[in-house]
Amino acid sequence: SRKFFVGGNWKMNGDRESIGSLVQVLNNGEFNPTETEVVVAPPMLYVGLVQQSLRPEIAVSVQTCHAAAKGAFTGEISPQMALDVGAQWAIIGHSERRNVFGESDALIAQKVKFALESGLKVMFCIGELLEQREAGLTSEVVIRQMEEVRNAISLAAWQNVVVAYEPVWAIGTGKTATPEQAQEVHHQLREWMAAQLSAELASVTRIIYGGSVNANNCRDLAKQEDIDGFLVGGASLKPDFITIINAQS
Ligand code: 13P
Repeated sequence: SRKFFVGGNWKMNGDRESIGSLVQVLNNGEFNPTETEVVVAPPMLYVGLVQQSLRPEIAVSVQTCHAAAKGAFTGEISPQMALDVGAQWAIIGHSERRNVFGESDALIAQKVKFALESGLKVMFCIGELLEQREAGLTSEVVIRQMEEVRNAISLAAWQNVVVAYEPVWAIGTGKTATPEQAQEVHHQLREWMAAQLSAELASVTRIIYGGSVNANNCRDLAKQEDIDGFLVGGASLKPDFITIINAQS
């Protein structure tokens, strides 16, 4: 009952030429939009351009947005601006926002809350660092990240949230979590949702995996019961993304 979901996070990559070519690949790629929901997140400056040239079956996302509608926040964009140029989604809490730009769990929760209240849907990212995994702290870390958002948003708002589990040690490293490692965490997250949100939300909320997903490893990951799709970085810039979109079919 959970529709397969694949997001492409382009991060800070591309220019008008390469992004134009990538949009062509996406526009010509075969996939079944009734089976798979596809969203791409271009760098902010290209969001409007991509939205205008991309086929309507693929939605557009921003990679972060601020927790206010407007004002003196140099360099930031608001959910209202994202919606105004045609984005329907925001990625919030990405590990690069957390670890490179110092966003705290509390700030991220505010951003998730404000984006949802503003009418964006949210890919909410969580995940542990290598040293946290090695210290046996994985569940504790991801559950703390979930709790912060649970405390900030209403139960109804979870309808517009996709949870992206992205172990930080697997991002951009070529080290994918094994299907079993990812499944274990996804299952724990779903059990937490059943206990802390509701049985209904636990059964309908998509939990997607991110971290070195590619055309070769996507099928085995997609077979896991609690893996409902992917958030793809590097491979989302290549025709491999079409293979990943079709990982479940
Ligand atoms: P990679 O697929 O490049 O490892 O990046 C994953 C990611 O951070 C997606 O948000």
